[in-house]
Amino acid sequence: MIKTDVIIIGGGATGCGIARDLALRGIPHYLVEKGDFAAGATGACHGLLHSGARYAVTDPEAAEECITENMILRKIASKCVEQTGGLFVRLPGDSKRYRDRFLKCCDDVGIPTEVLSPTRALELVENLNPTIEEAIMVPDCSIDPFRLCMLNALSSRHRGGGVLTHHRVTQILKEKGTCVGVRAEDTFTGQKKEIRARLIVNATGAWADRVASMAGSSVPMTLAKGSLIVSNHRLTNMVINRLRPPSDGDIIVPNEAVCLAGTTSINVKDPENISVEHHEVDLITTEIEHMVPKFGSTRMIRAYCGVRPLLKADIGDSRAISRGFRIIDHENGMLSIVGGKLSTYRLMAEKMCDLICDRFGKKATCTTAEVPLDGQDELTGYPLSKRLKKMDEIVCECELVTRQNIENVINRIGPRHLEDIQHRTRLGMGPCQGGYCTYRALGIMQEGGRISSEESIDILKSFLQRRFKGIKPTLWGDQLREEQLIESIYVGILNLGSFRRWRR
Ligand SMILES: Cc1cc2nc3c(=O)[nH]c(=O)nc-3n(C[C@H](O)[C@H](O)[C@H](O)COP(=O)(O)OP(=O)(O)OC[C@H]3O[C@@H](n4cnc5c(N)ncnc54)[C@H](O)[C@@H]3O)c2cc1C
Repeated sequence: MIKTDVIIIGGGATGCGIARDLALRGIPHYLVEKGDFAAGATGACHGLLHSGARYAVTDPEAAEECITENMILRKIASKCVEQTGGLFVRLPGDSKRYRDRFLKCCDDVGIPTEVLSPTRALELVENLNPTIEEAIMVPDCSIDPFRLCMLNALSSRHRGGGVLTHHRVTQILKEKGTCVGVRAEDTFTGQKKEIRARLIVNATGAWADRVASMAGSSVPMTLAKGSLIVSNHRLTNMVINRLRPPSDGDIIVPNEAVCLAGTTSINVKDPENISVEHHEVDLITTEIEHMVPKFGSTRMIRAYCGVRPLLKADIGDSRAISRGFRIIDHENGMLSIVGGKLSTYRLMAEKMCDLICDRFGKKATCTTAEVPLDGQDELTGYPLSKRLKKMDEIVCECELVTRQNIENVINRIGPRHLEDIQHRTRLGMGPCQGGYCTYRALGIMQEGGRISSEESIDILKSFLQRRFKGIKPTLWGDQLREEQLIESIYVGILNLGSFRRWRR
């Protein structure tokens, strides 16, 4: 049995941020995550570090939080953030009155803006629609959510924090009506662990109500699925937004070697069984083409979706629900934290940890806005060419990941899941989506004695299933041709004869 002061359930940005904050304040804690870090909404988002401009008109409080946190994260997480800048483009027919309100609202909450002529905007982004009426520049950035979570968790670990990934909390332990611990199950071996603590933090995003219900409590939420598609290269070096009230397919964000375009907003009941529908891909493509015409003829390599953990509101349109966050005290030894944004995760963690310090009668101020995240020295960031300096045997050509990079992860964390390597190195996250490098990485894992050959086949099968789920909505043109080549490698050369069967 493990004993600690605080158990954090959920290894998304919120949970990892809380772990780091507690560590910096010297409070013992354990984080438990059922997948790898960023397995929920955090890893399924656009990777936009909001300037707040998107919410300036509809949700000024959230907009103000975003601009403040944007400036902080540039400093403390510089290797996770690319300072791309962002444009809000006004197309013919888009409301000029909305544009005036937008500028005023940005000004009201302190978001700097600069109005650009079409010529100037086109100089900055060559693939922009040449018929734009104007563009407004804002300090949007691109952020890597996987690195962000891992470096927050690393900062916690360096100060004695405990972390259990691939462990699902299956039970909240209660004594005399108070939560005293959790039971968690290793999703690989089925082994069970018991952890006891003085306080439990439920940072499980879209799963918050389910987890709260294990303790006999509830978290009223609206779950809004959003889908995104990934282009095979960077069509823009800046974030491009449509200058109109937030709606479908109005944003494209550069992310390392690719671009992420989205999104949709569809209310769902279950955060687990979600998938991208073809009509969503069509909708996003058509809308993004209005801003970046080349998007429609670019190869799309994947689609994915996530669920926004929004506070419940009696509003039909989930886009109108506040992006603010809330801490709920269930008054039984469990605190839940829901809502918010990836961009405001640090602030959310700060407020939660202030409350925890209060509960424990501990005086320790928050320093997460000043202390940089640990572990950033090893990272190169964008452009990829920076990685070429230290190249030896390349395993993933799209993202320039070497054997050495993979061996380092294997030695450090002993992974038994491919995502553990992917999230830490970006292996398989580029244009071939792991088609050519996954079996090589599995070979290295097996060589290192971490998995047996039978396990490696099972891991490969489940990877191919997940990969196909993401690729299926984008199967047309060149992407379909490449997929057929990859299928012939797995079926014809690697003799995975039942490959087709997995594709259901
Ligand atoms: C499509 C989409 C696009 C978005 N784009 C942006 C953006 O560009 N910028 C931005 O700032 N925000 C964006 N957001 C919002 C942002 O992603 C979320 O608000 C934020 O990531 C939520 O983080 P979280 O840690 O609270 O939840 P999550 O990231 O969902 O983390 C919850 C974690 O809890 C784990 N968990 C659940 N149940 C259990 C259990 N029983 N045991 C153990 N672990 C469990 C899950 O596996 C998960 O990893 C977007 C959201 C979506 C859906």
